[in-house]
Amino acid sequence: MIIRETKARSILLKHKKIDSWFISRYGLNLYRGCAHNCIYCDGRSERYRVNGTFGEHVTVKRNAVEVLAGELDPNRRRVKLKPSYIMLGGGVGDSYQPAEQTYKLARRTLQLLTDYKWPVHILTKSTLVERDLDLIKENNRQPGAIVSFSFSSVNDEISSRFEPHVPPPSERLNTMTRFKDAGIACGMFLLPVIPFITDTPEMITETLQTAQEIDVDFVIFGSMTLKEGRQKAYFDTVLKTYYPELAPKYSEIYRDDAWGHAISEYHRSINAVFNQAARTYKIPRRIPPALYQDILWENDLVIVLLEHLDYFLQLEGKRSSFGYAAYAISKLNQPLSTMKDKLTTIKGVGEKTEQIILEILETDSSSYYKTLAR
Ligand code: SF4
Repeated sequence: MIIRETKARSILLKHKKIDSWFISRYGLNLYRGCAHNCIYCDGRSERYRVNGTFGEHVTVKRNAVEVLAGELDPNRRRVKLKPSYIMLGGGVGDSYQPAEQTYKLARRTLQLLTDYKWPVHILTKSTLVERDLDLIKENNRQPGAIVSFSFSSVNDEISSRFEPHVPPPSERLNTMTRFKDAGIACGMFLLPVIPFITDTPEMITETLQTAQEIDVDFVIFGSMTLKEGRQKAYFDTVLKTYYPELAPKYSEIYRDDAWGHAISEYHRSINAVFNQAARTYKIPRRIPPALYQDILWENDLVIVLLEHLDYFLQLEGKRSSFGYAAYAISKLNQPLSTMKDKLTTIKGVGEKTEQIILEILETDSSSYYKTLAR
């Protein structure tokens, strides 16, 4: 592994709209590049402009915590940050990759977020996160912490082919159990499932059954992207080694989409399998509102719940205007509670959506949401 140290000028990534997958308005990358080198990782794609050879070169943002401290300090900000989880992880480098053992940037970031009382949502594939259980517990006492692990399945043998440098799923599951025992909310990102390998009904069912057994708080599901260029070329080497017979099936579902998405028929079929299994095992398919309804600004709570409703309906093969309404609300600066009598002037908000929004503003929840989330 070749480590390069750099100085960052800014760290906090601000999303234009709250991210309803992670319940986060802000994210940060402490490392660029990832020694975990998962075979399917789209961080390898030319689109993300990660310098060097992905998996072999990692850039460490040495001053990340000092820069973040300045960005979070309310006395030094002209515009106040809106409350949400701050996402630690994801992007193009796992915050708990091996370099973290030396640099401890994630640990120091956690301490900073706890001092400033910012809730944190960690997403990782590494059991190294357990080192920081003390700080995560402290963070969880007031603002609230979520620790999520990503999986492509719970099968150790398949994982060893596609995720050769991370602890096997069985170890990740053991770590999750210890976090759950410590009272920390834990999520599983079943993302990506690998086409025709870990996306079969049997594999998805086995994964969700395991998730239920360790009492995960939610499972977020997603498919694999495969972008032409470095990402696809690297993935193909492993596919050809272990599953050469699948190459024609991959050509059928990945057809030159600029973002590497598979065709919509494929998405529909795996979403239906996931939806069925999640309902069978009664596992939330989005982060449950109880974990954020006391944290978010009212408009953000409405946006998240509307986007979740849109997703639940999509999983049932139905369309809705909730996503459109959520987007329009994200453009407003005015609190929705000050415009209760003119909600239908917002694009995408009809009478039904108006009633849902009013109920959320009144009670921080929605009875329609509760029905669809079951
Ligand atoms: S852990 Fe995440 S960022 Fe790192 S290589 Fe794997 S998929 Fe990519």
